[in-house]
Amino acid sequence: MDKLNLYEVLGVAPDASEDEIKKNYRKLAKEFHPDKNPEAGDKFKEISFAYEVLSDPEKRRIYDRYGLKGLQEGMEGSADPSDFFSQFFPFAGSSGRSGKREGKIVVKLELTLEEIFEGGMNKAVEYTRQKLCGDCNGDGGPKEARDECQTCGGSGRAAAFTFMGLNTFDTSCPSCEGRGFSIKESMLCSTCRGQGYVEEKVERDVKVEKGVPHMMKLPYPNEGHQMRGGEFGDLIVVIAQLDHPTFLRRHANLYMKDLNINLTEALCGYTHCFQHLDGKTICMSTQPGEVLKHNHIKMIRGCGMPVYNSSSDRGDLYIKFVVNFPENNFANPTQLATLEELLPGREKIDIPSGAEEVQLSDYKPHAQRQAQQDDDDDEYGAGQSPHFESVQCQTA
Ligand SMILES: [Zn+2]
Ligand SMILES: [Zn+2]
Repeated sequence: MDKLNLYEVLGVAPDASEDEIKKNYRKLAKEFHPDKNPEAGDKFKEISFAYEVLSDPEKRRIYDRYGLKGLQEGMEGSADPSDFFSQFFPFAGSSGRSGKREGKIVVKLELTLEEIFEGGMNKAVEYTRQKLCGDCNGDGGPKEARDECQTCGGSGRAAAFTFMGLNTFDTSCPSCEGRGFSIKESMLCSTCRGQGYVEEKVERDVKVEKGVPHMMKLPYPNEGHQMRGGEFGDLIVVIAQLDHPTFLRRHANLYMKDLNINLTEALCGYTHCFQHLDGKTICMSTQPGEVLKHNHIKMIRGCGMPVYNSSSDRGDLYIKFVVNFPENNFANPTQLATLEELLPGREKIDIPSGAEEVQLSDYKPHAQRQAQQDDDDDEYGAGQSPHFESVQCQTA
């Protein structure tokens, strides 16, 4: 299954156009259709599957980038690889699996960085799920009120028409949802109004693990919707980490918002205190004589997030310093002369006779910002800070 190359299945090149894919699919689907070619059932499934993926730009993109595994991971709640095929063939087979998948509920659990840092607490998620109505056992009314379904003649099954009108798979009858009957209007169950389902509000406690990753999916089997057959779908809780005003997180490492310091702090010593995510006050100082350069990045080892599943380990904290220089005319000529005695010497240049002397003007900051932004978009992709990218490289 992992070896399956969907482009080869359809006999097209990896850069094939939508039209080519459609054309080859039609040709092969005719050739290998089970009606004509009963031996080729699996081949036909493969062809249909390949077309299903490659004709959908989003699925094709995932497949191109991550392969079949990527498609599989994109489908939540299907840990069982043998279920993989049936995900793309919801009408194939009669196992309860497809129904169970339909019963899946996905809820988001928003957590602050502080909560993820601390861990251990329970957070409630609330959701509404459907359950079979207890008053009519999900039938929608009493047995004597049943009318055989006209659409499927009581079988509960219907032919599914897929692409190009090839009737390929069986599916539940859409009129009666596979029950094979409907309930007389006058005798509908009053509790569920004949739907067979009632809604149930559920509150579930989710234990927050220290350092739990953003977008992590936590499965809770059989806590989703109840289906016609009585089985339950799964509940999937997705961790959503909220933005923090001071820290940015990447895996177990933290990146503090840039610290603005002035030239005196950069040259003569700097102390800064901040509150960490556990509420503790942390203070850092430079050593006497230590110079903080503009865009200097410092690291505090072990001061980052707890490592998920190994919470006694901690990531690191990165801090970038932005040095603000004084404004023009901050000192008079005498003061500057004093200052110059302390600072490294400067090169004395005699302007040669005949040289052209030019005027320096400020570069327009707006244009600069714009250029910078364009650069960022190209180099790092929108929304990602080049600063954090470069830190990542240094630590790798
Ligand atoms: Zn009912
Ligand atoms: Zn029916």
